[in-house]
Amino acid sequence: MGLRRALRVQLSALCRRAPLSTAPAAREQPAAGPGTEPGRGPAETARPPVPAVDFGNTQEAYRSRRSWELVRSLLVLRLCASPALLARHEQLLHLARRLLGQRLFNTLMKMTFYGQFVAGEDQESIRPLIQHNRAFGVGSILDYGVEEDLTPEEAERSEMESCSSALERDGHGISKREKQFQAHRAFGDRRDGVTSARTYFYASEAKCDSHMETFLRCIEASGRASEDGFSAIKLTALGRPQFLLQFSDVLTKWRRFFHHVAAEQGKAGLAAVDTKLEVAALQESVVKMGIASRAEIEDWFTAETLGVSGTLDLLDWCSLINSRTELSRHLVVPNMQTGRLEPLLSRFTEEEERQMTRMLQRMDVLAKKASQAGVRLMVDAEQTYFQPAISRLTLEMQCRFNVERPLIFNTFQCYLRDAYDNVTLDVELARREGWCFGAKLVRGAYMAQERARALEVGYEDPINPTYEATSIVYHRCLDYVLEELKHNARAAVMVASHNEDTVRFTLHRMEELGLHPANRQVYFGQLLGMCDQISFPLGQAGFLVYKYVPYGPVMEVLPYLSRRALENSGVMKGAQRERQLLWQELKRRLCTGSLFHQPA
Ligand SMILES: Cc1cc2nc3c(=O)[nH]c(=O)nc-3n(C[C@H](O)[C@H](O)[C@H](O)COP(=O)(O)OP(=O)(O)OC[C@H]3O[C@@H](n4cnc5c(N)ncnc54)[C@H](O)[C@@H]3O)c2cc1C
Repeated sequence: MGLRRALRVQLSALCRRAPLSTAPAAREQPAAGPGTEPGRGPAETARPPVPAVDFGNTQEAYRSRRSWELVRSLLVLRLCASPALLARHEQLLHLARRLLGQRLFNTLMKMTFYGQFVAGEDQESIRPLIQHNRAFGVGSILDYGVEEDLTPEEAERSEMESCSSALERDGHGISKREKQFQAHRAFGDRRDGVTSARTYFYASEAKCDSHMETFLRCIEASGRASEDGFSAIKLTALGRPQFLLQFSDVLTKWRRFFHHVAAEQGKAGLAAVDTKLEVAALQESVVKMGIASRAEIEDWFTAETLGVSGTLDLLDWCSLINSRTELSRHLVVPNMQTGRLEPLLSRFTEEEERQMTRMLQRMDVLAKKASQAGVRLMVDAEQTYFQPAISRLTLEMQCRFNVERPLIFNTFQCYLRDAYDNVTLDVELARREGWCFGAKLVRGAYMAQERARALEVGYEDPINPTYEATSIVYHRCLDYVLEELKHNARAAVMVASHNEDTVRFTLHRMEELGLHPANRQVYFGQLLGMCDQISFPLGQAGFLVYKYVPYGPVMEVLPYLSRRALENSGVMKGAQRERQLLWQELKRRLCTGSLFHQPA
């Protein structure tokens, strides 16, 4: 049985076994959501033009905000821009807590940073804010923002233990995994150098169950909050990361092997989706490397598997591997030196097999719950050493659940050198297999950490060389997806960016391609407390825009607040412009006597 089929069978078999939650049985094929128009190309119906949006009109941008909220934003963003303060913010918070006591400290936080970036302590208290934003056309993606406050040493210990197998720890197999996909103590604390994203460390299976329960509650709350909600999950919260590392290593090696053969055939440098291998030459390479005998290989490439083209692309190659490789053997890699397929590790222990199974079970439970609640599930992208596996597992869920509309959204990080290949291959696979493509495009949150790790450990930096290169890749990927949306009304994308140019670029292309917001295919996403001057004008003009809305008790979201402060300090190009616009609006209200503006 092939890898993809085996994963799917495993997923469906798992959910027939003892469920992990009390979630009732769910429909696998969700009813089409409001506004979805399956099977109809958007160009087929005449639509009014795409509405114009003015991001410089501060009166409109801040119509939903009272003046004291503008002052708070200004103060918080100004403090975030002070390098001296940022460098010592943890000590300062600690000192403030000691001087003020917990209650006053909480109040101070709620009046400042917490009030700016976090919606409230629990699902009840965040409701007014969600409703308020909705009234101004802005939806919510709920995100329970609690993180365990581990010391760096605890984080490192947990990472080293959970990223290696029992066999590796006994010293029997570590050499087979590439450096990039091994745990390294110096980078064990994955929180270092990360903006935006929350980090999970593996503690136990029970802890993963509790993360799953949290995600389930967010899905339920999103379902209650709107008919068109989103919820976000992270796969590192749902299981032992060792499995993600090993699987990522295998997937990367298979892809590299394809490119190696392509280079042999003089086809280096093409986009993966355009690279076609000559089958006859490929057969020679495979036989020469001893991966299969000539007799075996002839069976592999039939007219049925290849059509009439006589060539094979990366997707054909992967499906070929999938159909040759049993799940128990899927951790095998071609060894370039010996030319043989070798198991990556001799085997998982029984306990590790169970852990891997339970991770897949948890994903399945969440996807079913989302399907039942009519909530779209966005799977966040994480570090490059986990991401190939995260993306592949997400794709398996998409294939199963995105039958009538995109229920599961994958995330593509455009700061990666191979982002365009990743996006185009998934779009192409969705076309071939007939499921609905759904994606969130981001620039990426792990840049500093990824670069430092690549340099220190000694592998190629996976990130684009410059910010400009990242923006070019983002727009290229987005353009490709928008073109797809034009021809396929069942595909959707979320442009998750605070970058005004990127949002403008999207609006411009939507106009050109005739992608009206009423088609409900293009979504925008920003974080709560950031770039309201983008979110609210979009929402008020009728575009589909969502805020990532973190919530949780003050002390437990402090790590998140630290990262918010750091991200606003400079990586975000929009932070300075936001301060200018806030000033402009405050001055306008002062001059026009509307300082006591009541949002209506
Ligand atoms: C709704 C939402 C969901 C998100 N989900 C995810 C997710 O699942 N995974 C994830 O990783 N991130 C995620 N993010 C975070 C996102 O990646 C960051 O917000 C983003 O990096 C900031 O980019 P921007 O387009 O908003 O702003 P900009 O200021 O235009 O871009 C800043 C980004 O550009 C890139 N960059 C900066 N300098 C360089 C350089 N020298 N070379 C190369 N690249 C550079 C970095 O990625 C940096 O973060 C999400 C953000 C939002 C709003």
